[in-house]
Amino acid sequence: MKEKVTPHLQRKIRDGSAAVALQFRLQNVPGGNIAPNDPLGEESLYSPIKGIVHKYQNRVLWKTTYRCAAHCQFCTRSRQIGSAEGDLDDADIAAGLCYIRSHPEIDDVILSGGDPLFVPQTVTRILSGLRDIPSIQVVRIGTRLPIHSPKSIGSPPVKRLLKALQACGESFQTYILVHVNHPDEIDYDVTDAIRTIRAYGFPVLSQTVFLKNVNDEEEVLEGLFKKLYYLGIVPYYIYRCDRVAGLERFVCDIGREREIMTALHKRMSGIALPSYIVDVEGTGKIPVPLDFWDVPDLGHCRDYNGIVIRL
Ligand code: SF4
Repeated sequence: MKEKVTPHLQRKIRDGSAAVALQFRLQNVPGGNIAPNDPLGEESLYSPIKGIVHKYQNRVLWKTTYRCAAHCQFCTRSRQIGSAEGDLDDADIAAGLCYIRSHPEIDDVILSGGDPLFVPQTVTRILSGLRDIPSIQVVRIGTRLPIHSPKSIGSPPVKRLLKALQACGESFQTYILVHVNHPDEIDYDVTDAIRTIRAYGFPVLSQTVFLKNVNDEEEVLEGLFKKLYYLGIVPYYIYRCDRVAGLERFVCDIGREREIMTALHKRMSGIALPSYIVDVEGTGKIPVPLDFWDVPDLGHCRDYNGIVIRL
Protein backbone atom coordinates (compact mmCIF):
# COMPACT_ATOMS: atom_id res chain seq x y z
CA MET A 1 0.00 0.00 0.00
CA LYS A 2 1.42 3.36 -1.05
CA GLU A 3 1.51 6.33 1.28
CA LYS A 4 -1.42 8.66 0.70
CA VAL A 5 -1.95 11.63 3.02
CA THR A 6 -4.52 14.36 2.41
CA PRO A 7 -3.56 18.06 2.71
CA HIS A 8 -5.74 18.21 5.86
CA LEU A 9 -3.71 15.43 7.53
CA GLN A 10 -0.43 16.83 6.21
CA ARG A 11 -1.20 20.08 8.02
CA LYS A 12 -1.74 18.18 11.26
CA ILE A 13 1.58 16.39 10.83
CA ARG A 14 3.32 19.69 10.12
CA ASP A 15 1.68 21.12 13.25
CA GLY A 16 3.35 18.35 15.25
CA SER A 17 0.75 15.61 15.71
CA ALA A 18 2.80 12.44 16.22
CA ALA A 19 -0.45 10.45 16.49
CA VAL A 20 -1.44 11.45 12.95
CA ALA A 21 2.08 10.92 11.55
CA LEU A 22 2.28 7.40 13.01
CA GLN A 23 -1.03 6.43 11.45
CA PHE A 24 -0.39 7.77 7.96
CA ARG A 25 3.34 8.10 7.24
CA LEU A 26 4.92 5.11 5.55
CA GLN A 27 7.52 3.54 7.82
CA ASN A 28 10.39 1.33 6.90
CA VAL A 29 9.37 -1.91 8.57
CA PRO A 30 11.22 -5.24 8.44
CA GLY A 31 9.03 -7.68 6.54
CA GLY A 32 7.13 -4.91 4.72
CA ASN A 33 4.05 -2.81 5.30
CA ILE A 34 1.42 -4.99 3.71
CA ALA A 35 -0.85 -7.23 5.76
CA PRO A 36 -1.00 -10.69 4.14
CA ASN A 37 -3.69 -11.97 1.89
CA ASP A 38 -7.09 -12.09 3.51
CA PRO A 39 -6.14 -12.58 7.20
CA LEU A 40 -9.80 -12.66 8.33
CA GLY A 41 -11.00 -14.88 5.49
CA GLU A 42 -13.26 -12.16 4.07
CA GLU A 43 -12.82 -13.21 0.44
CA SER A 44 -11.71 -16.83 0.88
CA LEU A 45 -14.44 -17.87 3.35
CA TYR A 46 -17.33 -15.43 3.32
CA SER A 47 -17.61 -13.73 -0.08
CA PRO A 48 -20.26 -15.30 -2.34
CA ILE A 49 -19.79 -12.60 -5.00
CA LYS A 50 -17.56 -9.63 -5.61
CA GLY A 51 -17.79 -7.00 -2.87
CA ILE A 52 -20.17 -8.89 -0.56
CA VAL A 53 -18.92 -10.45 2.70
CA HIS A 54 -21.65 -12.53 4.35
CA LYS A 55 -20.32 -13.71 7.72
CA TYR A 56 -23.28 -13.17 10.07
CA GLN A 57 -26.72 -14.47 9.18
CA ASN A 58 -28.76 -11.25 9.16
CA ARG A 59 -26.20 -8.78 7.88
CA VAL A 60 -23.74 -8.33 5.05
CA LEU A 61 -20.68 -6.15 4.62
CA TRP A 62 -20.49 -4.63 1.16
CA LYS A 63 -17.07 -3.41 0.04
CA THR A 64 -18.03 -0.55 -2.26
CA THR A 65 -14.44 0.26 -3.28
CA TYR A 66 -10.84 -0.29 -2.24
CA ARG A 67 -10.12 3.43 -2.46
CA CYS A 68 -9.81 5.90 0.45
CA ALA A 69 -8.90 9.58 0.66
CA ALA A 70 -5.85 8.66 2.78
CA HIS A 71 -4.15 5.34 3.55
CA CYS A 72 -4.06 4.24 7.21
CA GLN A 73 -0.86 2.27 7.72
CA PHE A 74 -2.53 -0.07 10.24
CA CYS A 75 -5.31 -1.08 7.82
CA THR A 76 -6.12 -4.81 7.87
CA ARG A 77 -7.11 -4.46 4.21
CA SER A 78 -3.83 -2.80 3.20
CA ARG A 79 -3.38 -5.56 0.59
CA GLN A 80 -6.32 -4.04 -1.29
CA ILE A 81 -6.36 -0.36 -0.42
CA GLY A 82 -5.69 1.97 -3.34
CA SER A 83 -6.30 -0.72 -5.96
CA ALA A 84 -8.87 -0.35 -8.75
CA GLU A 85 -9.79 -4.02 -8.35
CA GLY A 86 -12.48 -3.15 -5.84
CA ASP A 87 -14.33 -0.80 -8.20
CA LEU A 88 -17.89 -1.96 -8.76
CA ASP A 89 -19.55 -1.66 -12.16
CA ASP A 90 -23.30 -1.86 -12.82
CA ALA A 91 -23.15 -5.65 -13.22
CA ASP A 92 -21.35 -6.05 -9.85
CA ILE A 93 -23.93 -3.84 -8.13
CA ALA A 94 -26.81 -5.71 -9.75
CA ALA A 95 -25.29 -9.03 -8.61
CA GLY A 96 -24.87 -7.75 -5.05
CA LEU A 97 -28.47 -6.53 -4.92
CA CYS A 98 -29.69 -9.82 -6.36
CA TYR A 99 -27.78 -11.75 -3.67
CA ILE A 100 -29.28 -9.63 -0.89
CA ARG A 101 -32.78 -9.89 -2.37
CA SER A 102 -32.48 -13.67 -2.48
CA HIS A 103 -31.56 -13.79 1.24
CA PRO A 104 -34.55 -12.29 3.03
CA GLU A 105 -32.90 -13.05 6.38
CA ILE A 106 -30.58 -10.08 5.67
CA ASP A 107 -31.99 -6.95 7.29
CA ASP A 108 -28.79 -4.93 7.81
CA VAL A 109 -26.22 -3.83 5.19
CA ILE A 110 -22.88 -2.34 6.18
CA LEU A 111 -21.35 -0.32 3.36
CA SER A 112 -17.60 -0.39 3.79
CA GLY A 113 -14.45 -0.53 1.69
CA GLY A 114 -12.20 1.32 1.29
CA ASP A 115 -14.33 4.33 2.06
CA PRO A 116 -17.90 4.45 0.69
CA LEU A 117 -18.08 8.24 1.00
CA PHE A 118 -15.03 8.43 -1.29
CA VAL A 119 -17.14 6.88 -4.10
CA PRO A 120 -20.50 8.61 -3.63
CA GLN A 121 -21.79 7.79 -7.12
CA THR A 122 -21.29 4.04 -6.57
CA VAL A 123 -23.03 4.21 -3.20
CA THR A 124 -25.93 6.20 -4.62
CA ARG A 125 -26.48 3.44 -7.20
CA ILE A 126 -26.39 0.80 -4.47
CA LEU A 127 -28.90 2.73 -2.36
CA SER A 128 -31.41 3.04 -5.13
CA GLY A 129 -31.49 -0.77 -5.27
CA LEU A 130 -31.45 -1.37 -1.52
CA ARG A 131 -34.46 0.86 -0.91
CA ASP A 132 -36.59 -1.55 -2.95
CA ILE A 133 -35.60 -4.64 -0.95
CA PRO A 134 -38.29 -5.07 1.71
CA SER A 135 -36.13 -7.03 4.19
CA ILE A 136 -33.58 -4.21 4.57
CA GLN A 137 -34.21 -2.24 7.74
CA VAL A 138 -30.79 -0.72 8.39
CA VAL A 139 -27.91 0.60 6.26
CA ARG A 140 -24.67 1.50 8.01
CA ILE A 141 -21.92 3.47 6.31
CA GLY A 142 -18.39 3.10 7.68
CA THR A 143 -16.20 6.05 6.76
CA ARG A 144 -13.04 7.98 7.63
CA LEU A 145 -13.68 10.75 5.09
CA PRO A 146 -14.71 13.29 7.80
CA ILE A 147 -11.30 12.65 9.43
CA HIS A 148 -9.20 12.39 6.26
CA SER A 149 -10.76 15.27 4.36
CA PRO A 150 -13.52 16.99 6.34
CA LYS A 151 -14.25 19.62 3.71
CA SER A 152 -15.15 16.84 1.24
CA ILE A 153 -18.31 16.23 3.28
CA GLY A 154 -19.59 19.57 1.98
CA SER A 155 -18.75 18.71 -1.67
CA PRO A 156 -21.70 18.43 -4.08
CA PRO A 157 -21.33 14.63 -4.74
CA VAL A 158 -21.23 13.77 -1.02
CA LYS A 159 -24.11 16.14 -0.25
CA ARG A 160 -26.14 14.54 -3.05
CA LEU A 161 -25.42 11.13 -1.52
CA LEU A 162 -26.49 12.29 1.95
CA LYS A 163 -29.67 13.66 0.44
CA ALA A 164 -30.30 10.37 -1.36
CA LEU A 165 -29.81 8.55 1.94
CA GLN A 166 -32.23 10.86 3.64
CA ALA A 167 -34.78 10.11 0.94
CA CYS A 168 -34.45 6.41 1.82
CA GLY A 169 -35.68 7.16 5.35
CA GLU A 170 -39.02 5.42 4.82
CA SER A 171 -37.30 2.26 3.61
CA PHE A 172 -34.50 1.86 6.16
CA GLN A 173 -32.68 3.56 9.02
CA THR A 174 -29.19 4.89 8.24
CA TYR A 175 -26.30 5.00 10.70
CA ILE A 176 -22.96 6.64 9.97
CA LEU A 177 -19.94 4.97 11.61
CA VAL A 178 -16.90 7.22 11.74
CA HIS A 179 -13.50 5.66 12.35
CA VAL A 180 -11.48 7.94 14.65
CA ASN A 181 -8.48 7.08 16.82
CA HIS A 182 -7.07 10.16 18.53
CA PRO A 183 -8.37 13.52 19.82
CA ASP A 184 -5.92 15.32 17.46
CA GLU A 185 -8.14 14.10 14.63
CA ILE A 186 -11.13 16.17 15.81
CA ASP A 187 -10.75 19.85 15.04
CA TYR A 188 -12.96 22.69 13.85
CA ASP A 189 -13.27 21.34 10.27
CA VAL A 190 -14.09 17.82 11.46
CA THR A 191 -16.67 19.17 13.90
CA ASP A 192 -18.25 21.06 11.02
CA ALA A 193 -18.28 17.91 8.84
CA ILE A 194 -19.94 15.86 11.60
CA ARG A 195 -22.54 18.59 12.15
CA THR A 196 -23.28 18.55 8.42
CA ILE A 197 -23.87 14.79 8.54
CA ARG A 198 -26.00 15.05 11.66
CA ALA A 199 -28.09 17.82 10.09
CA TYR A 200 -29.42 15.18 7.65
CA GLY A 201 -30.82 13.35 10.67
CA PHE A 202 -28.50 10.31 10.79
CA PRO A 203 -27.25 8.94 14.10
CA VAL A 204 -23.44 8.99 14.11
CA LEU A 205 -21.39 6.36 15.98
CA SER A 206 -17.64 5.93 16.24
CA GLN A 207 -15.21 3.07 15.83
CA THR A 208 -11.68 3.19 17.21
CA VAL A 209 -8.71 0.83 17.02
CA PHE A 210 -6.26 0.52 19.90
CA LEU A 211 -2.92 1.53 18.35
CA LYS A 212 0.41 1.28 20.14
CA ASN A 213 2.07 4.67 20.71
CA VAL A 214 -0.93 6.39 19.14
CA ASN A 215 -3.77 6.07 21.64
CA ASP A 216 -2.74 3.54 24.32
CA GLU A 217 -2.98 6.07 27.16
CA GLU A 218 -5.93 6.66 29.51
CA GLU A 219 -5.84 10.43 29.05
CA VAL A 220 -5.75 10.16 25.26
CA LEU A 221 -8.76 7.88 25.04
CA GLU A 222 -10.66 9.79 27.70
CA GLY A 223 -10.08 12.97 25.67
CA LEU A 224 -11.19 11.23 22.47
CA PHE A 225 -14.38 9.69 23.87
CA LYS A 226 -15.38 12.95 25.57
CA LYS A 227 -14.87 14.92 22.36
CA LEU A 228 -17.01 12.39 20.49
CA TYR A 229 -19.72 12.40 23.14
CA TYR A 230 -19.85 16.22 23.23
CA LEU A 231 -20.18 16.23 19.43
CA GLY A 232 -23.20 13.93 19.51
CA ILE A 233 -21.24 10.88 18.32
CA VAL A 234 -21.92 7.73 20.33
CA PRO A 235 -18.68 5.79 20.91
CA TYR A 236 -19.57 2.33 19.64
CA TYR A 237 -16.56 0.00 19.43
CA ILE A 238 -12.89 0.08 20.33
CA TYR A 239 -11.16 -2.89 18.68
CA ARG A 240 -7.93 -4.65 19.36
CA CYS A 241 -5.74 -4.12 16.31
CA ASP A 242 -5.91 -7.26 14.17
CA ARG A 243 -2.92 -9.42 14.91
CA VAL A 244 -1.71 -9.95 11.35
CA ALA A 245 1.75 -9.96 9.83
CA GLY A 246 2.93 -6.50 8.84
CA LEU A 247 0.91 -4.69 11.52
CA GLU A 248 2.69 -5.94 14.66
CA ARG A 249 4.10 -2.52 15.51
CA PHE A 250 0.56 -1.22 16.08
CA VAL A 251 -0.65 -4.04 18.35
CA CYS A 252 -0.85 -3.08 22.05
CA ASP A 253 -0.43 -5.42 24.96
CA ILE A 254 -3.88 -6.79 25.85
CA GLY A 255 -3.23 -6.37 29.60
CA ARG A 256 -2.44 -2.69 29.06
CA GLU A 257 -5.63 -2.23 27.00
CA ARG A 258 -7.72 -3.82 29.76
CA GLU A 259 -6.11 -1.59 32.38
CA ILE A 260 -6.99 1.50 30.34
CA MET A 261 -10.59 0.47 29.64
CA THR A 262 -11.11 -0.60 33.27
CA ALA A 263 -9.85 2.77 34.52
CA LEU A 264 -12.10 4.63 32.06
CA HIS A 265 -15.13 2.60 33.18
CA LYS A 266 -14.51 3.77 36.74
CA ARG A 267 -14.78 7.42 35.87
CA MET A 268 -16.68 7.92 32.63
CA SER A 269 -20.36 7.80 31.81
CA GLY A 270 -21.43 4.55 30.13
CA ILE A 271 -22.83 6.35 27.09
CA ALA A 272 -19.41 7.89 26.41
CA LEU A 273 -17.62 4.52 26.48
CA PRO A 274 -17.39 2.11 23.55
CA SER A 275 -17.48 -1.68 23.84
CA TYR A 276 -13.98 -3.11 23.91
CA ILE A 277 -13.88 -5.88 21.33
CA VAL A 278 -11.59 -8.37 19.66
CA ASP A 279 -12.59 -9.43 16.13
CA VAL A 280 -11.54 -13.08 16.18
CA GLU A 281 -10.66 -15.16 13.16
CA GLY A 282 -13.68 -17.44 13.49
CA THR A 283 -17.06 -15.78 13.69
CA GLY A 284 -17.52 -13.13 16.27
CA LYS A 285 -16.72 -9.78 17.74
CA ILE A 286 -15.94 -10.90 21.27
CA PRO A 287 -16.11 -8.43 24.20
CA VAL A 288 -12.86 -8.46 26.19
CA PRO A 289 -13.56 -8.85 29.95
CA LEU A 290 -12.43 -5.91 32.04
CA ASP A 291 -10.54 -6.08 35.30
CA PHE A 292 -13.68 -6.28 37.44
CA TRP A 293 -13.65 -10.09 37.13
CA ASP A 294 -11.01 -12.72 37.82
CA VAL A 295 -9.93 -13.85 34.38
CA PRO A 296 -7.70 -16.91 34.33
CA ASP A 297 -6.34 -16.80 30.78
CA LEU A 298 -6.37 -13.93 28.30
CA GLY A 299 -4.50 -15.98 25.71
CA HIS A 300 -7.66 -17.41 24.18
CA CYS A 301 -11.41 -16.93 23.82
CA ARG A 302 -14.25 -18.80 22.15
CA ASP A 303 -15.94 -17.58 18.97
CA TYR A 304 -19.72 -17.68 18.38
CA ASN A 305 -19.50 -21.37 17.51
CA GLY A 306 -17.70 -22.24 20.74
CA ILE A 307 -14.40 -22.80 18.88
CA VAL A 308 -11.32 -21.88 20.92
CA ILE A 309 -9.38 -19.08 19.28
CA ARG A 310 -5.79 -18.30 20.36
CA LEU A 311 -5.28 -14.57 20.60
S1 SF4 B 1 -10.09 4.43 5.84
FE1 SF4 B 1 -10.51 2.39 6.60
S2 SF4 B 1 -10.34 1.08 4.77
FE2 SF4 B 1 -9.31 3.05 4.27
S3 SF4 B 1 -7.15 2.72 4.75
FE3 SF4 B 1 -8.14 3.61 6.57
S4 SF4 B 1 -8.71 1.85 7.87
FE4 SF4 B 1 -8.32 1.08 5.76
